[in-house]
Amino acid sequence: MTVNIEAYERIRSELGEGVTLVAVSKKKSISDIQELYDLGHRDFGENYVQELIQKQLLLPNDIKWHFIGHLQRNKVKYLAPFVHLIHGVDSYQLLEEINRQAEKNNRIMNTLLQIHVATEETKFGLDGTELITMAKDLHKYKLLNQLENVTVCGLMGMASQTEDSSLINKEFSYLKTLFDDATTIIRQGCFNILSMGMSSDYKIALKNGSNMVRIGSLLFGERN
Ligand SMILES: *Cc1c(COP(=O)(O)O)cnc(C)c1O
Repeated sequence: MTVNIEAYERIRSELGEGVTLVAVSKKKSISDIQELYDLGHRDFGENYVQELIQKQLLLPNDIKWHFIGHLQRNKVKYLAPFVHLIHGVDSYQLLEEINRQAEKNNRIMNTLLQIHVATEETKFGLDGTELITMAKDLHKYKLLNQLENVTVCGLMGMASQTEDSSLINKEFSYLKTLFDDATTIIRQGCFNILSMGMSSDYKIALKNGSNMVRIGSLLFGERN
């Protein structure tokens, strides 16, 4: 499989200013990633820690690696030296561990809180009430100068896997509402990323205010 350059150019022109395209390269080869890198692309997303570590070693250092999968607490240490943005934070304990590992690496790590808006039971993430509680706590911790090595930069969510575009639209619109609510509570300069939209639904996500889309199969072809 090689990169679909036509799709890449088309998507980039659809996104416009201020929207980041994360090229989701999970299960794709080093040479696929290198091909997109050579076109000037720098933001790549991976779901599996082991796979990400191996790729990171073999690819250029200025790639911004996004971790978009479910992150177990005991794996944070492997990503801490280099990861650019962790999209899937859904517990305070995970945030604490990210803070601890970031401190060890002498850096500040950027994260997004994952919100569960889809109808499927299996997906990870906070619900609306949990988010508001967490946002209030975060505001408090900042005032207390705790969690100094971790920054919460916004929200991430996935819509239901369905053909029903009005349901997807409803879910993204709800996510945007939560994002606006959380913004007023957290009040940190960098709380400004809304990561939503994948190959099948990014256009609906953009209509609802997404400023970061995570696209895999449209760029790299279907995964096995
Ligand atoms: C795999 C994945 C994507 C990309 O999915 P495509 O349908 O291939 O675009 C985006 N976000 C997350 C969280 C994923 O796991």
